[in-house]
Amino acid sequence: MLGIGEGQEAAVPDVIVVGAGNAAICAALAAREGGADVLVLEKADEAERGGNTFFTGGGFRFPYNGLAEIRGLIPDLSDAEVDRIEVGSYPASAMRDDLFRVTEGHADPTLVDHLIENAYPTAQWMREYGGMRWVLMYSRQAYEVDGKLRFWGGMITEAVGGGAGLSDSLFASMERRGIALRYGAKAQGLVTDDRGRVTGVRVKTVDGFENISAGAVILAAGGFEANVEMRTRYLGAGWEMAKVRGTRHNTGDAIKAALEIGAQSCGHWSSAHAVAWDLNAPSTGNRRIGDLYQKHSYPLGLIVNVHGERFVDEGADLRNYTYAKYGREILRQPHSVAFQIFDQQTVGRLRDEYRIKEVTKSEAMTLPELAADMGIDVGGFVRTIEAYNNACREGTYDPSRLDGLGTVGIDPPKSNWALPLDQPPYVAFAVTCGITFTFGGLRIEAKSAQVLDTEDRPIPGLYAAGELVGGLFYHNYPGGTGLMAGAVFGRTAGAAAAKAVRGG
Ligand SMILES: Cc1cc2nc3c(=O)[nH]c(=O)nc-3n(C[C@H](O)[C@H](O)[C@H](O)COP(=O)(O)OP(=O)(O)OC[C@H]3O[C@@H](n4cnc5c(N)ncnc54)[C@H](O)[C@@H]3O)c2cc1C
Repeated sequence: MLGIGEGQEAAVPDVIVVGAGNAAICAALAAREGGADVLVLEKADEAERGGNTFFTGGGFRFPYNGLAEIRGLIPDLSDAEVDRIEVGSYPASAMRDDLFRVTEGHADPTLVDHLIENAYPTAQWMREYGGMRWVLMYSRQAYEVDGKLRFWGGMITEAVGGGAGLSDSLFASMERRGIALRYGAKAQGLVTDDRGRVTGVRVKTVDGFENISAGAVILAAGGFEANVEMRTRYLGAGWEMAKVRGTRHNTGDAIKAALEIGAQSCGHWSSAHAVAWDLNAPSTGNRRIGDLYQKHSYPLGLIVNVHGERFVDEGADLRNYTYAKYGREILRQPHSVAFQIFDQQTVGRLRDEYRIKEVTKSEAMTLPELAADMGIDVGGFVRTIEAYNNACREGTYDPSRLDGLGTVGIDPPKSNWALPLDQPPYVAFAVTCGITFTFGGLRIEAKSAQVLDTEDRPIPGLYAAGELVGGLFYHNYPGGTGLMAGAVFGRTAGAAAAKAVRGG
């Protein structure tokens, strides 16, 4: 516990925040900035703190107009560094288009507008009020083209130290601001008065149950991706088998507690963010490996199942706009297994995560040897690669943009970056489905992050932010939006809750 000493009687806090990930801590900081006494309740012990936020790459998506705005967030970029890079621009209209395109038009426009309007200012606030620091994502979001590192995909900055660095820096910021924090405190239910106002949280600790009162409660306790029963119930058969990429503690408790007092459910409850994840990764996240079990360089190669058949268009779009939906496609394959295949033309460009020793990998001089070693049907695999190579055509290859170098006459096509696979040694990586977070959650009013009831009325005293908010993501997700949305709606919730309790 920070802030309040052992054995001391705590006064009723103005605001309780449930959870201690990125959304929760942004909410706690904003409530503190608004003058509130804040208590953060975190289910995990200190050794497992940080939620999914700890496991992230720390990538943030926000609109920006050219280098000047990037320098506003990273003022220590040297002139020599600037000479080597091309960051381009990512206008608000492009971020809006991306959100609606990947969600097939379902994203709630009020959430989208609030997110986009507040994204860059919130990143600045995290720097100024929270002390967070940013760097450019050199290794993951830039390719060298014509002697310059060209950034692509709308997400070009990451927190210093990735997710672990972000998490440490958020906790340090809470401590500096005098925010109280209890580990090992699981929110089990919400306490209400006769008029339906939320007046506190029912908490379970190793010592049993207690009710803690507060002027307002902000829920930011993640989705239900680590709850096998809820995954199977809402996402469907087979999702029991998915590996959890992050924390084992996001089991949907806060969503259930809010629904029990009449909160409105919202969003794509039968869908989730899920990616290609090493076949032999553990069933929940490993804090040393972090996000490195992911395998995100598939646009440079091909993906096949155990029959040697392709089943997605690896080059349908830039990686940031396809990776979060392809985990689901892998789960549907026989044994929920797939293989990413590369040759010597592309293997040098693979991301850092392919170079850890904990990879399920094979290398061979011939395609049949590679297939046999990985347990892929040899005949099927060789037929697929021959058909693919025959479908490739001449053109200019450029991995930093949609280069239009697509196949002709095969299904599924590879719509961009389709180089023939013919330069041995060939390399294969075995992957399965890793679930990141769930898309179904609670409905909030965008400008206050206040939770709405089933009659569309704000529930007095209840706010929500982060993964457990529904309505923003459907079917798919643009990389880097989870942390940004958590920060924006966390900050909004904290400011609104402080204002409601303290006035002003
Ligand atoms: C491997 C990986 C990589 C990712 N990379 C990125 C990235 O680079 N960029 C990006 O934008 N997004 C990324 N994401 C997604 C990102 O993690 C989430 O969008 C974001 O961290 C969610 O923040 P949050 O605060 O809502 O939840 P979390 O950070 O998960 O925090 C929720 C907290 O609530 C606690 N909790 C749960 N139940 C209770 C309870 N009953 N009582 C009290 N506390 C409770 C949990 O222990 C946890 O600490 C990644 C996710 C993973 C797993």
